[in-house]
Amino acid sequence: MQANKRIPVLEVFGPTVQGEGMVIGRKTMFVRTAGCDYSCSWCDSAFTWDGSAKADIRMLTANEIIEQLKAAGGDVFDHVTISGGNPALLPQLNALIDLLHEQGISVALETQGSRWQDWFWSIDELTLSPKPPSSGMQTDWAVLDDIVSKLTAGNTSFSLKTVVFDEADLEYATSVHQRYPLVPIYLQAGNGQLQETDPALMLPYLLERYEWLIGQVMGNTELKRVHVLPQLHTWVWGNKKGV
Ligand code: SF4
Repeated sequence: MQANKRIPVLEVFGPTVQGEGMVIGRKTMFVRTAGCDYSCSWCDSAFTWDGSAKADIRMLTANEIIEQLKAAGGDVFDHVTISGGNPALLPQLNALIDLLHEQGISVALETQGSRWQDWFWSIDELTLSPKPPSSGMQTDWAVLDDIVSKLTAGNTSFSLKTVVFDEADLEYATSVHQRYPLVPIYLQAGNGQLQETDPALMLPYLLERYEWLIGQVMGNTELKRVHVLPQLHTWVWGNKKGV
């Protein structure tokens, strides 16, 4: 029974606003799971997989996670975002998704699209975020093709999101858009200043990066039906965790 299988959790926090992708600005709670099959060079959640927060991982049941969500968020939320790491490594997540739905709570989830889980079909807003060349990772296109085709067949609400740091990343994002032209795609300006602790010092940099990306996309004939976004929470809180 998946319902009793425990889920490795590193953070439960909120309410806050979703800072990225298709539900940007949405009031939500966050559950961050531990473990990732990638090791992106600019990962802003490296503590989920690099061993540095190993002692903080809690193995929780779906019920215990809901208790934690209620303890942190009371009754002021109706939306939960599951993030990682890569939550798609966890087949047992269906128990949490079902319990949240039973309580009238919508569920968003982000994964890089390297693994399929049947519970993808139950997610209310699923973001696939294949990683561009600057991450140092290689996309398994056969796996991603399969995921996109299953989600499309299942009429799931999903989108693509690609972080863009440079021109090679933009070329990659363009190839993702051309491969899946009917799937909404969000291009997000990359944050290359993960060590900066003062949000005020980050803002001019983030603004410059967002303006650069807008400039790249506006004149691009291959990128028409796209959304260009900043990483909103970094504009407010910089690199602070748990917000
Ligand atoms: Fe980090 Fe996401 Fe890359 Fe995993 S896929 S290493 S969590 S950025």
